[in-house]
Amino acid sequence: MKKIILLGASGSIGTQTLDVIGHHPDHYELIAFSVGKRIEAVHKILAKWPVKYVCVGSYEDQKLLEKQYPQVHFTSGDEGLLELVSLEEGDWVVNALVGFVGLRPTLCAIEHHKNIALANKETLVVGGRFVRESIEKYQVQLTPIDSEHSAIFQCLQGVRRSDVDRLIITASGGSFRDKKRDELANVTVKEALSHPNWQMGAKITIDSATLMNKGFEVIEAHYLFDMDYDHIDVLIHRESIIHSLIQTRDTALLAQMGTADMRLPIQYALSYPNRDELVNGEVCDLSAIHALHFEKVDVERFPLLKTAYDCGRKEGNACAVLNAANEVAVGAFLEGRIAFLDIEKLIMKALENIEYKSDASLEDIYKTDTYTRAYVNDLLKGGF
Ligand code: MG
Repeated sequence: MKKIILLGASGSIGTQTLDVIGHHPDHYELIAFSVGKRIEAVHKILAKWPVKYVCVGSYEDQKLLEKQYPQVHFTSGDEGLLELVSLEEGDWVVNALVGFVGLRPTLCAIEHHKNIALANKETLVVGGRFVRESIEKYQVQLTPIDSEHSAIFQCLQGVRRSDVDRLIITASGGSFRDKKRDELANVTVKEALSHPNWQMGAKITIDSATLMNKGFEVIEAHYLFDMDYDHIDVLIHRESIIHSLIQTRDTALLAQMGTADMRLPIQYALSYPNRDELVNGEVCDLSAIHALHFEKVDVERFPLLKTAYDCGRKEGNACAVLNAANEVAVGAFLEGRIAFLDIEKLIMKALENIEYKSDASLEDIYKTDTYTRAYVNDLLKGGF
């Protein structure tokens, strides 16, 4: 029986994690969860899982909820998340937070000897080196929930690490995969949010449209599987049936395929090395699909993918600048304050102007994040 602390319970991954937990009450017990602003989710989840610990975004909501549920211990904000992941009772943390806020709770959870099922990719993008060191030190498990990394993780089972030559991350290409570079100038938020293959949260859907998400996944793969950047490729595959591949030294390509059901990677991250039934899961009918297509990424059209490789190779605080600038820029785009191509413009400016530190400490990473956000917000105010 795994006792689970779920961070980000009301989002897309969080909701599907609850679905997995609900279908396997003999394997998993929810003992605590967090939500940000969606307080209605607290009522819904507590009705089904009467847990003792809940963290919410704001102190005001915490106070209101305490009156309604005197038997529950509520916390709030970043400190509340740290309290949650330190709970003695839990042994697994599912981190489904969005953005940089996910890093501190991950590190804190590891220090409290929790295993991590990780959906929060920014954790590894910004703090990959520190997360890896910490995992080594505390000897905990970290399993990936991101579908591409889950696919690679599944392909790696039974393969000697020294026999793996290459990781190949597939990409749907995002909402604008068929647009020319000059057509990207005037795309709207609504167009950007309509992903061709599936429904996800707003931030990650925009990151998919710019291919920033794929860039983050390259960095994530580097830290998860200890593979250098020259041996991680991105391949456009519009059907999203192959979730990623590995190439072995004898030229074999091993792929993990299936329908795009995020519950599989979530469940595998928790059940590994075992596999459980995926309740209501659908097998992908390959005879109905007929053909799978693959193409190279056009980095001229989507330069942020190359930028991510560059930042990943530079290490230091480069990825912290990249991530913070991206979070602020994507937020501004979603609010209709800037155009789509301004996202990359703001990121490039931040990377040019914020001081690069090759030997950045964890404290430097946190400082870089704060500083970069302020810098990009200033650019936004000044009309850059
Ligand atoms: Mg992914």
